[in-house]
Amino acid sequence: MRTVTCECGAVYEVTETKVPFRDRDNFNCDRCGEEVERWNGSTIPSFRLIAGPPEKSGDAE
Ligand SMILES: [Zn+2]
Repeated sequence: MRTVTCECGAVYEVTETKVPFRDRDNFNCDRCGEEVERWNGSTIPSFRLIAGPPEKSGDAE
């Protein structure tokens, strides 16, 4: 397990899943819309926001 931090300060927990096909996609930050990561292959990351820039949040998972 690893984390990535967006330039806006949002921190995402990354879970990687092996899939039997090739996927090319990218993930943009929920908060600022910047691209956080892109991938091209059969290991697909999924992102969960674990810490964000200071902001009111009703996010309980
Ligand atoms: Zn961001």
